[in-house]
Amino acid sequence: MEENQKLPQGVTPEDAQNAVFKKLFWIAVDASKKAYAPYSGFKVGAALLCSDNTVYTGCNVENAAYPLGTCAEKNAICKAVSDGRTDFTAIAIAGSKDEDYSKPCYPCGSCRQVMSEFCDENFKVVVADGYIPLGELLPYNFKL
Ligand SMILES: [Zn+2]
Repeated sequence: MEENQKLPQGVTPEDAQNAVFKKLFWIAVDASKKAYAPYSGFKVGAALLCSDNTVYTGCNVENAAYPLGTCAEKNAICKAVSDGRTDFTAIAIAGSKDEDYSKPCYPCGSCRQVMSEFCDENFKVVVADGYIPLGELLPYNFKL
């Protein structure tokens, strides 16, 4: 959320951010419905928020040759980067095997590193029960 946007009276920036993150999470849930996960049955959706509030979605895409599968988060980031975008502020992740999205689905180590290529330690990773800064999920990221 832009800091110069006016909020309705009584709404704090934290309230506004939480509302945006809640919406972003449900966009991730919707994205998970498109997952191709015939092997694990674990469907993951991601919703990547850019600084102008554009959202890129992704889902996991598995393959019979297991290592060739792609994570939802990487999928969303690659879609955005291929569109010329790298100004990310948050990503929401929703994953479930049985359509119960109440448990947090954290990004795998590989996706944390991919996020760190484009995002600083304050980048927000939104899961079912809140958000955590990328710097806490990957404190010692690899950099060249
Ligand atoms: Zn991953």
